[in-house]
Amino acid sequence: MSDPATVSESLLTARLYPWHRSLWQQLAGDQYKLDNFPHALLLSGLAGSGKKALAAYLAQTLMCHAPVQDSQNGSLQPCLQCRSCQLFNFGNHPDLFYLSTPDDKKVIPVESVRDLIQWTVLSSQLLHKKVVIIEPADAMNQNAANSLLKTLEEPAANTVLILVTSKKQSLLPTILSRCQSIDIALPEPAIARHWLQEQGIEQPELMLALAAGSPLKACDLANENAQAVRKMVLDSILQIASGSDDPVSAAEQLFKLTSSKKTKTAKSKAGQNNISASAFDIIYWLDSAWTDLARISQLQALTDARSFISNIDYEQDLQQLLNRLYLKKLLQLSDSVNKAWYEIQGSVNFNLLLEKLLINWKDCLK
Ligand SMILES: [Zn+2]
Repeated sequence: MSDPATVSESLLTARLYPWHRSLWQQLAGDQYKLDNFPHALLLSGLAGSGKKALAAYLAQTLMCHAPVQDSQNGSLQPCLQCRSCQLFNFGNHPDLFYLSTPDDKKVIPVESVRDLIQWTVLSSQLLHKKVVIIEPADAMNQNAANSLLKTLEEPAANTVLILVTSKKQSLLPTILSRCQSIDIALPEPAIARHWLQEQGIEQPELMLALAAGSPLKACDLANENAQAVRKMVLDSILQIASGSDDPVSAAEQLFKLTSSKKTKTAKSKAGQNNISASAFDIIYWLDSAWTDLARISQLQALTDARSFISNIDYEQDLQQLLNRLYLKKLLQLSDSVNKAWYEIQGSVNFNLLLEKLLINWKDCLK
């Protein structure tokens, strides 16, 4: 059997976000709930809803030897003092098995699930609950998922399995039927904005709109480099529309961003002249801009188009293109962008792909 820590547990950060609080009351409001916790739980929700952090927080609480009451709402939380909490925080808990995709793969292989199953029958090292987190659960291929079924149905005593996914619909019905399912919603915009402000995020309303309501994604997007890339992509689109740039040279400029070396430090310190982007980033913002335009175009009868789009700071620029737009061609362009998502995962010539998309964009305009 290989080392149970197939993926380092240090990648798990236990955290209860403000928008999880009422859900937490249901899950772990009191000791009775913890003692009678379901043996298999499925946490699902959109990307950026914080479900992985919640799964980790739940694992830490379930394994804690002396959970304490929250002074505000009385629900239980990990004590952070006991041996279990300390091992958890070191990312080295012997009674936690975190199963995720290996670094170089997109799939959780059946062998890893077999290792997990062998691990579940071992006794708890700390003589308390054992917890398994499988994240993302949709990364298990059919063989892997099938081999987990028996364990889900009859788990070893004192073992809790927590499956985490943002693609619940792609899980096998046999997996779904064996888990208690909890859906994590994105927070109300006001709660999300307040939280973003607390994190020191500037322009929280814009970041939240760009992240389709996900506060965690909004945090990711709120850095200088990401915003500079977005600006370049949107400005390119507008410049092609106004005739001040042509698709081929705009494609070349955007393509150059992908050849800048991107290190973590460079990313956070990137200035206007040192911005870098992946093909994924560029397609993301093209998709975002064109989707906004299609929405504004289809919703122009509504006065409040702003609440349906992402790039709210470009609303006026996009509005001005409406009477020049062939909507049918724009929708075809959206199809091409959808294909581009797949193409960039292969060995496509990205410069040519960008040229093609931007030439198609020019054709969308009268
Ligand atoms: Zn503890």
